[in-house]
Amino acid sequence: MHFLKPINPKCLFLAPIFSCQALFCFSQQFVIGATSVTEWQYGKNGAVSITYDDASRNQFLKALPVMEKIKMPATFFVITGPISGSKYRGKFVGRPVAEIIKESATTPTNDQNFLERCSAAGYLGYKGTISYHTKAGSMYDSGKKDKAFKLIDSLYTKVRHDDFKSGYEPCPEYKEAVGSTWEDFKKDAAEGYEIASHSITHATMPGLDEANIKYELEKSKEEILTHLGPKYTFSCEVPYGYENDRVMQIAYKIYPALRNRMPESWLKEIDRASNVTPGPNNKDYVQWQRGGTTKTPLSLMKSWVDTTAARKDTWLVLVFHGIDGMGYEALSSTMLDEYFHYIRSKEDNLWVATFGDVTRYMRERESSKVTANNKGGKISVSLDHSLEKSMYYLPLTLKTYVPSGWKNVKVTQGKHTHQLQVKKDEKGSYVLYQAEPNSISIMLSKA
Ligand SMILES: [Zn+2]
Repeated sequence: MHFLKPINPKCLFLAPIFSCQALFCFSQQFVIGATSVTEWQYGKNGAVSITYDDASRNQFLKALPVMEKIKMPATFFVITGPISGSKYRGKFVGRPVAEIIKESATTPTNDQNFLERCSAAGYLGYKGTISYHTKAGSMYDSGKKDKAFKLIDSLYTKVRHDDFKSGYEPCPEYKEAVGSTWEDFKKDAAEGYEIASHSITHATMPGLDEANIKYELEKSKEEILTHLGPKYTFSCEVPYGYENDRVMQIAYKIYPALRNRMPESWLKEIDRASNVTPGPNNKDYVQWQRGGTTKTPLSLMKSWVDTTAARKDTWLVLVFHGIDGMGYEALSSTMLDEYFHYIRSKEDNLWVATFGDVTRYMRERESSKVTANNKGGKISVSLDHSLEKSMYYLPLTLKTYVPSGWKNVKVTQGKHTHQLQVKKDEKGSYVLYQAEPNSISIMLSKA
């Protein structure tokens, strides 16, 4: 499936960066040649990314076929440890756990030893201990340190008293993320779906020390790189949506795009826990995350799409978990079918793309430089950005104003030539077209 679509000219934005010889012409001619990168791909009003967390089986058996039918792209944040054929499984990186257990008999949990003990909590040789890691990590993240220390103390006391059954038991999300193979993901990726990292074991990272955070994120990345290639090592969601500073700092060095939080000054973020609706905004973009749960009426979910389509600056990031009775807050695939068709019905105004592609587009646009030259009846345009080319490779949509006498325009970049019909807005006549950044100039002429 190929998600690139013919351009639908809808944009009303002027160039963030603009240089043009035509500036020196008569005022009536002012806009001729003026070129900008549109806010969103194809000049749409807004963007929508559908994302799934945890890779529970019904996402692929039930929700994916619904999306495939209408060629709807999406991002799957997958837990890589349970996938059959994976090299890296959950483990504790550190001292032998016997030493840590022994120490806990004489030294209570404190600021110095908490992260080590919490990192090891799931790997002490017993079943039923991972929930202590999950809860203590969450308490520690929210500043309830004493509670977290006490909980870890109670865990290690039980372990020393041999109160648990021996073995290893991962968290519920890990146990549900079974059934898909790397071969399955390879096929999904070939269709245009983004497979991205959600760590190896769905660990609670604010409760992990640096070595264990790195293991969870770096080895998950390595696994994806081995099985799917570098394109799929771009995006990541640190489990449970944490925005913990220490974790984010480490994660950014491993994955360029985190759904948890982005560092850009030009992006306003409204996270899933917030009930704020995008309002007046002084930044270039708003990322509006909304999580569909069993308590979310379909009418409300549709209103998020309407709001996004009516604004110019908004990227709606939808977060789904369980499907048809399997996984956290499972939604019905029949309801999603109706919802996805609704999103499709708004596609004149909305660009639906993967999380990675929308991030790429915004970053390329923000760092791009466009120059245009109107001379001898032809307009030449060059488009460059300063980002790493292997990672930021999306074509961008350009909007160029042309002389009012032009009805059709021939646009050529290298071997590609398109003939486009001129559109009009309050500033004049223009065309919208796709351009490859960091390539040869684009030539526009009357057709
Ligand atoms: Zn998750």
